[in-house]
Amino acid sequence: MTKHNFSAGPAILPKSVLDQASEAARDYNGISLSLLELSHRGPEFTEILNRAVAKTHELTGLGDEYAVLFLTGGASSQFFMVPMNLLPQEGSADYLNTGRWSDNAIDEAKSFGTVNTIASSKEDNYMFIPKDYQSNSNATYLHYTSNNTVAGTQFQSLPKSEAPLVCDMSSDIFSKPLDFKRFGLIYAGAQKNLGPAGTTLVVVRKDLLGKVSREIPTMLDYQTHVKKNSSYNTPPVFPIYVCLLTMEWILGQGGLAEMERRNKAKSQLLYSEIDRNPLFYGLVNKEDRSMMNATFQLHDQSQMEELMAMTKEAGCVGLKGHRSVGGLRASMYNALDLSSVEVLVDIMQEFERKKG
Ligand code: PMP
Repeated sequence: MTKHNFSAGPAILPKSVLDQASEAARDYNGISLSLLELSHRGPEFTEILNRAVAKTHELTGLGDEYAVLFLTGGASSQFFMVPMNLLPQEGSADYLNTGRWSDNAIDEAKSFGTVNTIASSKEDNYMFIPKDYQSNSNATYLHYTSNNTVAGTQFQSLPKSEAPLVCDMSSDIFSKPLDFKRFGLIYAGAQKNLGPAGTTLVVVRKDLLGKVSREIPTMLDYQTHVKKNSSYNTPPVFPIYVCLLTMEWILGQGGLAEMERRNKAKSQLLYSEIDRNPLFYGLVNKEDRSMMNATFQLHDQSQMEELMAMTKEAGCVGLKGHRSVGGLRASMYNALDLSSVEVLVDIMQEFERKKG
């Protein structure tokens, strides 16, 4: 049975990527060895890593002034690695609090310097992206989360700040073209738009490194990984390979502009049904709606079980909202086909007829 994977993450990957990855797990490139059993210092993985770095440069359009790292520890480790490496003890950084992941990043950063939360929608259950705020002229950086996976909001434009932008792009990396040069540092846990769980992509402007005087443990110092091309210790070989395949898939499909076209088509289809169908309502401000994670609810929540049974019957998985929000969440990452959203919309219409 065809499955329609709306999971928030780990999430859907392109079928061709899964096929190539499966083959590599059995026999990498016809060498009669699995990629899972190859040395991270051998020629095969060295080539994979270099290609993954090159594809990241190609997709972002960023040159050698930026280092591309594939690290471990998840996006959550970047919440403390960023301030540990970039924020001087006597310095300050601006943070926008637009969701639970921003909130975690703010909590972690407080141990390293002054954190100014210059805008927050926390008091309003993160239903919107704050737009009315003043960034500090002396901030070392401005940190924000471009897509709020739990609440279902997304920045539609870059935040206003003179300082370099530091962005958690875990749930919308490579979903649309961006002016990547505006960023001092970008990080993303791979497990949504990029690959499987197990590696975190970090892209950092090299001139921002080495400016803090605190002692940084070797493994937590970006400079260690820049110098050793993400191979100071054993890198997550297989997840990096799958990220490479996904990036090649994105480029082969037409790149970031094509991803944006598809993501807009999918999200517009679903949001227009949420707005049209009298049984449902959207959970966040319309102008801040995420193309990646649509959050919505039934007016009559007693109907949820019946609706969920119908979606399950049609092969839809991962539609349950985050436990802190409730309702439904449809994640529509790059690899999800429009036809899956059409299946969901058909179910919503059938449910309306049933209840009408
Ligand atoms: N940031 C965002 C935007 C997320 O959606 C998540 C959850 N996947 C995280 C950070 C935390 O990521 P990880 O589980 O890789 O630490």
